[in-house]
Amino acid sequence: MYQDTIAAISTPLGEGGIGIVRLSGKEARPIAERIFRGSLSDRRLNYGHIIDPDHGDVIDEVLVCYMAAPHTYTREDVVEIDCHGGPVPLQRILELVLRCGARLANPGEFTLRAFLNGRIDLAQAESVLDIVRARTEASLRLAVQGLEGRLSAAIKNVRSQLMSALAYLTARIDFPEDEIEPQEIVQPLNEALQSLQELIATADSGIVYRQGVRTAIVGRPNVGKSSLLNQLLRQDRSIVTPVPGTTRDTIEEVVNVKGIPFVLVDTAGIIRSKELVESLGVERSRKAVEQADLVILVIDTSEPITDADREIIDLIGDKAALVAANKCDLPQQADLSELRWEAVLTSALSGEGLAQLEERMVNLALGGKVFVSDALMVHNPRHKSTLERAEGSLTQALSGIASSMPDDFITIDLTAALNALGEITGETVQEDLLETIFSNFCVGK
Ligand code: GDP
Repeated sequence: MYQDTIAAISTPLGEGGIGIVRLSGKEARPIAERIFRGSLSDRRLNYGHIIDPDHGDVIDEVLVCYMAAPHTYTREDVVEIDCHGGPVPLQRILELVLRCGARLANPGEFTLRAFLNGRIDLAQAESVLDIVRARTEASLRLAVQGLEGRLSAAIKNVRSQLMSALAYLTARIDFPEDEIEPQEIVQPLNEALQSLQELIATADSGIVYRQGVRTAIVGRPNVGKSSLLNQLLRQDRSIVTPVPGTTRDTIEEVVNVKGIPFVLVDTAGIIRSKELVESLGVERSRKAVEQADLVILVIDTSEPITDADREIIDLIGDKAALVAANKCDLPQQADLSELRWEAVLTSALSGEGLAQLEERMVNLALGGKVFVSDALMVHNPRHKSTLERAEGSLTQALSGIASSMPDDFITIDLTAALNALGEITGETVQEDLLETIFSNFCVGK
């Protein structure tokens, strides 16, 4: 248990109905008692006022929830002060609790404490962040699966198979003279390997649901890019989430197609600026294609393919791409056989072909795999690469056994596989990895 008590504003800054200042640690209750006028029963919303203990000024009218350890988010004493959701009351209350002895929490520190105090494992802690960041219902579902510990449970099974084999081999090494009851280890290890491989096989799709597919919609002016985008938004009754992009000055637009977030790259730049001179348009398309995982090339099929089309086609190179052969409601002039990619006939005017286009987008994103809504899916790239490391070591152990290598060689590989799996759930995790993971959280989580 930690000696210090941490505090942070746990709601987004800005104006809102309510805002929450959260405290966790031994001093959470004593600090709250110093600034709160009202009674403080456990697990009740207690009505009262926050008072500045130095001058007796009333800061805000609040509800305070005190939750005694250990049945709390962090397993420590937790106090949540629900005040009016404005930056000034929140800031004043935070200052007060800091003055009374709390320390400002680091990003993700409440969740870090939940992990270090053993309430959740590392994979579950990471799922908390995924829940906060989920962009579609499907990504939320995967994140909740993680928080419930389904991946952790699967990994625990594999670990226990490896551990039993390791214990057996170690006994044989340590007590060579003793008669150690022979134990079948190849079959359980093969089963463990198969479980790992099944998990890894879900990862590419899972990661797509979690991170989305960076998508560029490109084409020369007037082919119907913005009309098509509007149709995509309308067809799926999608939530368009303006999220801050990777660089400070961009806003990403996210289109939700059957649960997969398609993150549109530089849409504002390419589609919205009609006045762009053509060469600049090509330059921006080039950048968008570079950043994209998937390119949707829009062609106006009511005209023959032009050199301006070809200039953009050349930019696509070997990226995964799909052609929206647009304006299919007009007399057709374009020869699509010249294109290297699958084309879907669309009319951004009538909406014709949009369903097929979406289906193809999803297919390309998932590599043709079908997503079963309650199947366990690995959706975190860190988990995938760590699983692959475990798989590598386990494969090596098995081939060591097959070629009758000495037991101590095999135990080295088994231990490596076990340690890798422990990095997912957090049993064998290094300090710096924890730092990297939790630095992605926001303060207050
Ligand atoms: P952008 O410059 O590529 O974004 O093209 P716009 O979406 O602004 O469309 C250019 C023009 O083509 C507009 O007048 C649209 O109404 C029209 N347009 C777009 N898609 C279609 C289509 O599928 N069929 C027809 N007939 N017109 C379309």
